[in-house]
Amino acid sequence: MLSAQQAEALILNLVQPLDSQQDVEQVGLLSSLGRILATPVTSQLDFPHWDNSAMDGYAVRFADVQTCSADNPAILEVVDEIPAGAIPRKPIQPGQAARILTGSMMPDGADTVIMQEVVKREGDRLFVSTPPKPQEFVRQRGVYYRSGNLLLPAGIPLNAPEIAVLAAAQCTQVTVYRRVRVAILSTGDELVSPDQPLQLGQIVDSNQYALASLLVQAGAEPLLLGVVPDNPEPLKEAIAQAVHQADIILSSGGVSVGDYDYVERILESLGAEIHVRSVAVRPGKPLTVATFKREQGVEVSDGQETRDIRQSIPHSPFPIPHSPCLYFGLPGNPVSALVNMWRFVLPALRKQSGLVRSWEPCWVKGKTRQNLKSDGKRETYLWGRSHLVDGEYEFELASGSHLSGNLINLAQTNALAVIPVGQTLISSGESVQIMQIA
Ligand code: AMP
Ligand code: MG
Repeated sequence: MLSAQQAEALILNLVQPLDSQQDVEQVGLLSSLGRILATPVTSQLDFPHWDNSAMDGYAVRFADVQTCSADNPAILEVVDEIPAGAIPRKPIQPGQAARILTGSMMPDGADTVIMQEVVKREGDRLFVSTPPKPQEFVRQRGVYYRSGNLLLPAGIPLNAPEIAVLAAAQCTQVTVYRRVRVAILSTGDELVSPDQPLQLGQIVDSNQYALASLLVQAGAEPLLLGVVPDNPEPLKEAIAQAVHQADIILSSGGVSVGDYDYVERILESLGAEIHVRSVAVRPGKPLTVATFKREQGVEVSDGQETRDIRQSIPHSPFPIPHSPCLYFGLPGNPVSALVNMWRFVLPALRKQSGLVRSWEPCWVKGKTRQNLKSDGKRETYLWGRSHLVDGEYEFELASGSHLSGNLINLAQTNALAVIPVGQTLISSGESVQIMQIA
């Protein structure tokens, strides 16, 4: 059985990021929020575009004021007023100054700005009695960015600061990676959708909703394939179809060693290569990770003959991706499925989405308020809430059962505390590794 760290490295290694040529789309700037930039951006503009004033004050020639003092003030003639957006009307000659406002263009001849608070003005006469520093309060053209250099690299998420930079550079259309398509199917004869009447023995397919929500939050496009019964043929058909629609397939249930756990056998019969069968984590041990090569098509046997499943897809709205399809067979238990999502699937998804870094879960260190217990055999995750107290994280264990079937007390948590393999207790007050999940 792989350790969590081994599984994490192996899975990330299997991921082939979206292609920066083929897997892209153009979106309007305001629609680019949260998307991943697919091509580097350069600008033909300098930032600042021209020398401008950082203060409300007066644009002067440094040479005119460098020796001034309270006893011997420099007296300058104010010859122009330059509000924001205006073009200076005249160059500043020796002995002259211009009234200037924050962000306004520096006039030719002037090289320094003096704050209005430290000068005295009488009509057109300006009295300067404290020498400024040379070039003080002037934002020089191009000091923030020189035209033609890299403005934004590919592979970064677009948030408010990046969108502001793109707006300033007049990029109204942005090339971003398309969303990663992730098929979700739930396996189990006991499962019904939330709107169906619940018969004795049945439970609601909550995993479909949990996984779809995580995917949307992560910027992916979920393809909801619904519930597939515990029956090899429909399951095989559903998986084979999903291979031709999605970049990643998530199934939940059917990956343990029960009599109705068919997923692994079906994957093998469809020609998938299985890389992970279980990981030493609790909850979430029975995790299957497989890849499908897509070039040769997936063959599905219907008993008589073998046919290519692509012929039986009535109409797929999406072009079939070319890179290998990554398959995650998640355990059915709701918390196990989610722990695997946070720990392994979402990092893989982030890598596939074109992000060049920050794939891993967000880990912080904190103090636990309760004793945290494990059998020491597997890396153990306990759910609860983390919050900052005087600048340090504290972890509050969720009350109630921490068995993987208990979905209820997972609600309103935002963190998982991790007990490493080999450790059976982290006592209240001790330091613990915390994975942020919200
Ligand atoms: P399995 O991994 O198929 O053995 O399922 C383990 C447990 O998770 C069983 O109690 C299932 O009823 C439950 N389960 C399986 N799939 C789902 C699902 N999609 N939503 C909620 N619970 C599920
Ligand atoms: Mg099942």
